[in-house]
Amino acid sequence: MNVADSMRVASSLEKLGYHNTEKPADADVIILNTCVVRQSAEDKAIGRLSSLKPLKMNNPDLVINLMGCLVGVKDNPRLKKRFPYVDVFSAPSDPVPLIHHLLEKEGRTLELEGTLERFAYMDGDLVIPAVDQGNLVSSFIPVVLGCSHACTYCIIPYRRGVEKSRPPQEILAEAHALVQQGVKEITLLGQIVDRYGADQSDYPTLAGILRRLHAIDGLERIRFLTSHPNYMTDELLEVVADYPKVMPHIEVPIQAGNDQVLENMRRGYTHQQYRELIARIREKIAGVSIATDIIVGFPGETDSQYQDTYDLIADLKLDVVHLARYSPRTGTVSDRRMPDDVPDEEKWRRFRLLEDLQEGIVADIHATYLSTTVPVLFEEKSKKGRWRGRTETNKLVFVDSPQDLRGRIAAVNIDWTGPWSMLGHLNP
Ligand code: SAM
Repeated sequence: MNVADSMRVASSLEKLGYHNTEKPADADVIILNTCVVRQSAEDKAIGRLSSLKPLKMNNPDLVINLMGCLVGVKDNPRLKKRFPYVDVFSAPSDPVPLIHHLLEKEGRTLELEGTLERFAYMDGDLVIPAVDQGNLVSSFIPVVLGCSHACTYCIIPYRRGVEKSRPPQEILAEAHALVQQGVKEITLLGQIVDRYGADQSDYPTLAGILRRLHAIDGLERIRFLTSHPNYMTDELLEVVADYPKVMPHIEVPIQAGNDQVLENMRRGYTHQQYRELIARIREKIAGVSIATDIIVGFPGETDSQYQDTYDLIADLKLDVVHLARYSPRTGTVSDRRMPDDVPDEEKWRRFRLLEDLQEGIVADIHATYLSTTVPVLFEEKSKKGRWRGRTETNKLVFVDSPQDLRGRIAAVNIDWTGPWSMLGHLNP
């Protein structure tokens, strides 16, 4: 989501005549777009922000914009007091305060009103920033902003605000604009992306949006994330199964494999319901790959409750498990009401055990690709000079080739597989 937001801010600034620089010391404007989903992300953001202070001291004209979840959607006087050298504070997905500041600073007040209107976030008229022009194969379109689900551990609803779907015409206009600029793959984003349209009376469903995107000539692949187990409809699964440009890859977090922990997290389903969902997805979509998220060390999580998560992951054999150690976030329900009582070493132990388990599972899944031929969409050359692309199931594939493969879908014979990637050669 932040990558998508940053691209849109860069695009807005280029419309004002700014361009990208390589080094912060050369910049007139620095935007720090922040994530605070875990304490480690927040610490990183604060560290980076503090490292910008000397630049501002040397160059008082420098404009520093702090953006994203560290700021949140509400006014944040404590943050303003703590970082007086920040010129502009802006909420996630909102470039308007920065544009306002820059236009005013330049005395371009006459242009202000019209410009702000045109730059209202994501106006569909999206121009890929110059650094990425001609290079960008895969891009994101946020379709649901904010989140209203309120899992007890999660800070996102407090910082990104309530759930709000974007108008379908805006999404389609943006997709057309991206494809005209060479993008081949679009990933639709939302905290609970399958709730798209649920907050509006006259919007299509996510499945409806996928069908409309499917009709765009030149768009080769469509993905969406993240799903929530309670909102995964048969209509959506059928679109994935029946529309060849919609990729067979589902990201649907479970978070924990024990019902009491799930209830404490206020996720709204049981582990059995999740297992049934995975069976339903696999039944409907041939060759599907599935990713999940797990939080270990949630308050009160006992050894045996953790074991339920471990057993579930061992049983389901999913393609990807995004692992996190529970991190209390100020203001959330779990932080206020549930002591963070699993010691850090124990969180690490649980994390590593699951990491090892999943590494073996993925290595086995990937080994089934050996000697098969799969379509790969190539995105860029890696540092080692190999072309890097993804299968329809979102697996990373590297290929040595003298040809320019950027943006091409090519059949690849898989010669080697490991837990994190595969190597192959172009099918002659
Ligand atoms: N909104 C989606 C959902 O929850 O189903 C997923 C997106 S969420 C921003 C990304 C992941 O961060 C979550 O799935 C969760 O595993 C992790 N996460 C969120 N809050 C956390 C916390 N307080 N501590 C550790 N991990 C957390």
